[in-house]
Amino acid sequence: MPAERYPSEFPAPHDSVPAPSAPPMAPDVEVALARSEERFRLATRAIGGFVYDWDARTGRVEWTGGLLETIGVAPSEADPTIDWWHGRVHPDDAARVGADGHVDLLHDPTRTSYEFEYRVRHRDGRWLWVADRMHVVRDTEGRPVRAVGGVTDVTARRAAEAAGAARARRLDRLRELGAALARMLTVSEVARAVLPRAVAAASATVALLLLRTADDPDLLEAVNGVGGAAHLAAGWRLPIASSLAVARAVREGVPVWGDARDAAPAADEARALAAATGASAWVALPLRVDGRVLGTLALGYPAAPEVDDERREFLMGFADQCALAVARSRLVEAERAARARAERALAHTQRLQRLTAELARVPTPQEVAEVVLREGTAAVGAATGSVSLLGPDGDTMTTVASIGWAGRGLWERYSLAASGSPGLEALRSRVPVFVATPQELAARFPAAAASAAAAGLQATAVLPLAIGGRAQGYVSLSWSAPHAVTDEERALLEAIAAQGAQALERARLLEAERVARAEADAANRAKSDFLATMSHELRTPINAALGYAELMALEVHGPVTPAQGDALARIRRSQLALLSRINDVLSFAKLEARRVSFDLQPLDVAQLLADVEPLVAPQVAAKAQAFAITPLVQPLHAQADAERVSQILLNLVSNAVKFTPPGGRIALEASSLDEGRRVAIRVRDTGRGIPADRLESVFDPFVQVDATLTREQGGTGLGLAISRELARGMGGDLTVESVPGEGSTFTLTLPRGERRNHAAHA
Ligand code: ADP
Repeated sequence: MPAERYPSEFPAPHDSVPAPSAPPMAPDVEVALARSEERFRLATRAIGGFVYDWDARTGRVEWTGGLLETIGVAPSEADPTIDWWHGRVHPDDAARVGADGHVDLLHDPTRTSYEFEYRVRHRDGRWLWVADRMHVVRDTEGRPVRAVGGVTDVTARRAAEAAGAARARRLDRLRELGAALARMLTVSEVARAVLPRAVAAASATVALLLLRTADDPDLLEAVNGVGGAAHLAAGWRLPIASSLAVARAVREGVPVWGDARDAAPAADEARALAAATGASAWVALPLRVDGRVLGTLALGYPAAPEVDDERREFLMGFADQCALAVARSRLVEAERAARARAERALAHTQRLQRLTAELARVPTPQEVAEVVLREGTAAVGAATGSVSLLGPDGDTMTTVASIGWAGRGLWERYSLAASGSPGLEALRSRVPVFVATPQELAARFPAAAASAAAAGLQATAVLPLAIGGRAQGYVSLSWSAPHAVTDEERALLEAIAAQGAQALERARLLEAERVARAEADAANRAKSDFLATMSHELRTPINAALGYAELMALEVHGPVTPAQGDALARIRRSQLALLSRINDVLSFAKLEARRVSFDLQPLDVAQLLADVEPLVAPQVAAKAQAFAITPLVQPLHAQADAERVSQILLNLVSNAVKFTPPGGRIALEASSLDEGRRVAIRVRDTGRGIPADRLESVFDPFVQVDATLTREQGGTGLGLAISRELARGMGGDLTVESVPGEGSTFTLTLPRGERRNHAAHA
């Protein structure tokens, strides 16, 4: 029945509508009217409301009896005015229904019917929702004459609608939560998604997510919190045995709904929690998955909240979703951690492989140390590193390499006695030393604390280097923030240190060998120089002696008797033999000193063989031996120095003659080797041969198989050494095969040479 004021200047509508208060009626009419009214009253009661009738002329409202049933007020108690009714309308609805005086619904000539739903006060103070349908009767000029309407109580319907809407809202919230949680991959992400929504959905002031800890299932740990719990959230721990509602929900696996009894048994704990969070009543929902209780979603209120069945069901659904998300994200986290572990293990293996490969390449201790530091610091994210080795005095440490120390001031050399450092400890104990924080360093190595602090280093790892079975140095790594070395890192660092130590040992051996070899080379060179000088010094006087002996033999100084001539001939032979040996020594010395040059030309091998014969004919004849050159099947050419080749062949044939008894045979032959890539020239004899164990050593300088002073054959033991050096100098080689007692075969191989006249022939 909206529209409050009826304008006072509004003229009474009796011109067009007959007055309701007509002349007295006939009795049968009265009965009929009474019956009609009765029917009307019953009808309005049946629809659960009342009917009103406003008369413009009188300004009065008449109510049917339903008024009492609807708002608890009898029509007789009601003020018969629109104002009285409007006074009962809920202030929030007043404007809408025109009860605040701003809208005059009756005055709008274009409308005759209105429908409203609004709240009115029942006599007992409750607010009722009513539906008001009004019909306005207007005169010909559109002025309201009468307004008739019906009001019905729709409170129950409205409540049902509201409950339905709330249910729909809750379902939406659950759906939205589910969608949000589906994206969360870690427990803390789940907490961040769940807690604000839980506070909003449950009208709580505080929300906390508490989970059993991984290491101790009897402890609950806060993952996160919002509202008053935000500051105590992460890391807050609570034994599951606690009598707090939040612990009880986990222990017993059933929700606690925050009634007053919850706080009672644990007054102190509960008071402390209330003081910390501002919440003294808690709804604690167990997070259950597959029969396990993972923890609780706890909602805090300043006072015990009213939680009806529907809301309980809703909150449990909320908690179930949260539980599933926690379980799933834990699986994801575990899987991620496993994958990260596997990736780290792979990276470690690759790092070690790379280290092995790099260490195999670097020859010096300095380079080894640099590689170890580069890989070591990178492996564990250390800021600095150094490798120090113990000096020969056993007391002085020398830093051989460092990384990341620029501007930090690195000590280069220091005495162990003075240090008292993690390094000394590692060296002494031969086990790695790890210091995770400046506090730990100050407690364990007070002497080292100041310098570490000055260098801005807060954590250190020192790994001893066992070289040659003894700790002879260490690798030291430092971090500029506290760093607790994990088991994985420790294993990796130990492997790096072990490899580094091995490589250092190898590098030391290599260096020692290099030094020894250099010394030997120097000594050898000095010897060769000496030999070359001496040979030269000896040859001059011998040549002079030879010259004088020849002058005497030519009787330049007077006649020579046959006996003197014979003596002079012996002197000359001896001088020549001496000269030849000195020449041997000289050429060997030159060869060793690498002072021989070769004039390499394509040489006709048949010619080379033929050239030897005249040179050896006298010796062969003297021993009545047979000397034969096997004719070549096809022309052969060798790329060689003609003079050197004949020097070699002469030496080989001379040896054959020397070591073959009278009447023996000596053969010279040549063939092509390796599909024509090389040429082989062989000298065979039927002499005494060479024992198998001496076959190689005959090529060593000054070696003779029969080295006794009483041996029959002269010689220096240099011939074969010189011959092999010459052969190798021309890109060939000299080898021997022999059967003692049957003979020997020396084989000279030479690179093949191009045939000279081949192009002309074509
Ligand atoms: P030298 O002939 O001056 O002793 P060589 O270097 O030419 O020095 O020879 C070294 C040693 O090899 C000889 O002393 C000899 O014992 C052995 N030898 C060389 N050629 C033959 C050969 N054809 N038969 C047996 N022994 C040989």
